[in-house]
Amino acid sequence: MALSGLEIYKLLPQTNCKECGFPTCLAFAMKLAQKGTELSRCPYVTDETRASLDAAAAPPIRLVTVGSGGRAFEIGNEVVLFRHEKTFYHQPGLMVRLRSDDPDLAAKAKDVNEFTVERVGLTLQLDGVVLEHAGGDAAAYAAAAAAVAAAGDAPLALFTADPAALAAAAAAVAARKPLLGVATAASVAAMAAVAKEHGCPLVVRGDGDLESLAALIEAAKGAGVEDLVLDPGASSPAAALALATQLRRLAIKKNQRAVGFPLIAYADAATLEEQAVLATQAVAKYAGVVVLDSADPALVYPLLTLRQNVYTDPQKPIQVEPKLYEIGAAGPDSPLLITTNFSLTYFTVSGEVEGSGVPAHLLVADADGQSVLTSWAAGKFDAEKIAKTVQASGIAERLSHKKLVIPGHVAGLSGECEEELPGWQILVGPREAVDIPTYLKNVWPGL
Ligand code: SF4
Repeated sequence: MALSGLEIYKLLPQTNCKECGFPTCLAFAMKLAQKGTELSRCPYVTDETRASLDAAAAPPIRLVTVGSGGRAFEIGNEVVLFRHEKTFYHQPGLMVRLRSDDPDLAAKAKDVNEFTVERVGLTLQLDGVVLEHAGGDAAAYAAAAAAVAAAGDAPLALFTADPAALAAAAAAVAARKPLLGVATAASVAAMAAVAKEHGCPLVVRGDGDLESLAALIEAAKGAGVEDLVLDPGASSPAAALALATQLRRLAIKKNQRAVGFPLIAYADAATLEEQAVLATQAVAKYAGVVVLDSADPALVYPLLTLRQNVYTDPQKPIQVEPKLYEIGAAGPDSPLLITTNFSLTYFTVSGEVEGSGVPAHLLVADADGQSVLTSWAAGKFDAEKIAKTVQASGIAERLSHKKLVIPGHVAGLSGECEEELPGWQILVGPREAVDIPTYLKNVWPGL
């Protein structure tokens, strides 16, 4: 846990010599606590103090990188239990498990690599393949690993109970820095040696309790592997939730860095619906990697959406550029609608306008990325803002009419808008975006 300014001050020489550029040691300490300066600016800090401050500055949950190249993903480095306390920084990797004896292994791996979906202007994708060793010798497993690696550049995980098979497969795809595992008490020494040799992260699996997990962590670290991913080995979804919460609390609230590593969770279930429930729990609390047994879009798309929502910084909503958008071949007679620049709002409204087949001008006001109702309640989407947005856009010169459609949720602003925009007719559109096509096709032509 980060030290406060006063805690840092107690570790400084307290001579106020000013050589750091600050008038007092306290001022320097306060700035350091805010990460606004470097400890190295004080030449009188002892090695002991430096070690204490470095340890305090380390994240409570270690940052671990899975994979290499452009699609590598980072997990860990979280600092809060609940998203609203600050934000969650590193979204869990969603990896799909394939068996090494699958006759369609390469094709399925390719599908995982290439799965993408667009949502609110962003491209969402799966994060890689977990290659489960389904028996066979080490050479066969290594060949399967090479086949999966050749299918695309998404990260890989190699999971086997056989250290010899792990060594062969890891050597075959070492440049991809795969996530290795799964180490148990019986295999941790041999698997840690493989992870150390190739500089790969290692999954260690406990027996469903913190003690066994702690022993494995110690063994892996003792063998020189620092980048660990923890599988608590829970026996049920309830136990998985309890252990994940305990580990997160220990790392963040109790400063127990000994267990401060990202977690892995498995959506092991017979049906797609049950897999979705388990994966949802894991995304929310607190997995760094979630292993799926299916790449079915019916499972993957909701999870990608959930993950995007949970891991969006609540202080920084996803937004689009506030400006005038033309949808279709909008001309002087086309309707003019206005909305806010919350990304989901924009894409929902523009999608419905596009779907209506009626070309239109869509004016997007800068509402700090908030939705219509939220920004209205916060005073960021009022009649004055609407009028200024219309005037700044220059749209009046391009229209043969002066009609503006405002969202139905802010119908109460219509009178004020007409005062702010003399000569304009303010029309109240639908409350819900889904009703926009009907409005544009049936209502607008008669206005
Ligand atoms: S250089 Fe070090 S001792 Fe001098 S004022 Fe700054 S923090 Fe204090």
